[in-house]
Amino acid sequence: MYDVAIIGASVAGNRVAEIVAKRGYKVLLIEEHKKIGFPSKCTGLVSYRIKELLPELDERIIQNEVNRAEFIFKDKRFELKSKNPMYVLDRPKLDKFLFDRAIAFGAEARLGEKFIRVEKFTNCYKIFTSSGEYDAKILVGADGAFSQVAKIFNLYEEKEFFVGVQTTVNGNFEKDKVELWFGDFAKDFFGWVVPINEKHAKVGLATKGDVYSNFKKFLRKRVRKFVQPDTAGIIKFGLIKSSVAERVLLVGDAAMQVKPFSGGGIIYSLIASQLAALAILKALVKNDFSREFFEENYEKEWKKKLVWPIRKGLFIRKLFYGLGEISISFWFSILPYFKLLLEMLDIDFY
Ligand SMILES: Cc1cc2nc3c(=O)[nH]c(=O)nc-3n(C[C@H](O)[C@H](O)[C@H](O)COP(=O)(O)OP(=O)(O)OC[C@H]3O[C@@H](n4cnc5c(N)ncnc54)[C@H](O)[C@@H]3O)c2cc1C
Repeated sequence: MYDVAIIGASVAGNRVAEIVAKRGYKVLLIEEHKKIGFPSKCTGLVSYRIKELLPELDERIIQNEVNRAEFIFKDKRFELKSKNPMYVLDRPKLDKFLFDRAIAFGAEARLGEKFIRVEKFTNCYKIFTSSGEYDAKILVGADGAFSQVAKIFNLYEEKEFFVGVQTTVNGNFEKDKVELWFGDFAKDFFGWVVPINEKHAKVGLATKGDVYSNFKKFLRKRVRKFVQPDTAGIIKFGLIKSSVAERVLLVGDAAMQVKPFSGGGIIYSLIASQLAALAILKALVKNDFSREFFEENYEKEWKKKLVWPIRKGLFIRKLFYGLGEISISFWFSILPYFKLLLEMLDIDFY
């Protein structure tokens, strides 16, 4: 019998696995894909907080450091400088780094196995995957925006979601500046250019609309060529009503621990993973796996840290996109006058 079974070996699941396995508990990671980090689903742009949350981060995962952002809407542009650096990470390598640490601390993994369903027993869940059955005292849903764990335990919330696609292109880029393109191709989200160096950048776009044709148009406008996407994923956000059930916790995108304005989820996932792992360790010591226990020790704790950042993000999103291009245009005409104030804002809305 496993103490904890974690569905999803990405940033959130791997981090929970590492912290719990490090304390000697039996941890199982179940991942539907065979290769950790692939298919690629993220740009890997994070705030300086990554170094506080993951002091052990292998520097080779950091592809670039940026400290300027240019906001672009039609013929309007303004630039902000960040007081703290932002890092561009090699996202597949980050997932692999976290996975390897979990395994090094004793976690077991089943790759290429899709989690399907559970059966409840008095002292555990029996977990059924595409090719196996496992017993675990606690089940963690770190299985992303369309979490099957959330669906099974009635924790899943239907929300609008955005599809993001991205590719890596050659060209001439300013190494320390990201570009954020609003309106036109991504009326409800934005397009981005995130440099890896002067010659290569990750160029992508997210929208609820026809993402592929908008991505094509965006690439043609920005880099004058089309390159097939090498990265794609879902961005879904909001404030989840409940992220726990008896013997169950959701973490990361599965719990919508995502910044509503930028769609960034790495930092929030790492914050919540740590809290989830601490709650799990406490539950294993006390032998208490009730919903109430996880509400008190996980849900309350992560919401203490992330409710306001998520609420702020939702509010700013509403203001910014509320009237579509009319409001975007309005904000672009006044925001440059508040440059100094904006530069003091925390990009994690913390
Ligand atoms: C295009 C794009 C760009 C992004 N850029 C950034 C960025 O620059 N910075 C940032 O901070 N965030 C970014 N994000 C968001 C970020 O990728 C996510 O917030 C982050 O990956 C969440 O990690 P997670 O571990 O919660 O979930 P995920 O990374 O989604 O991982 C879920 C894992 O569960 C597995 N899984 C799912 N279902 C099952 C199942 N039934 N059985 C077994 N395994 C299963 C999946 O294969 C996957 O490995 C971006 C997202 C997109 C779509």
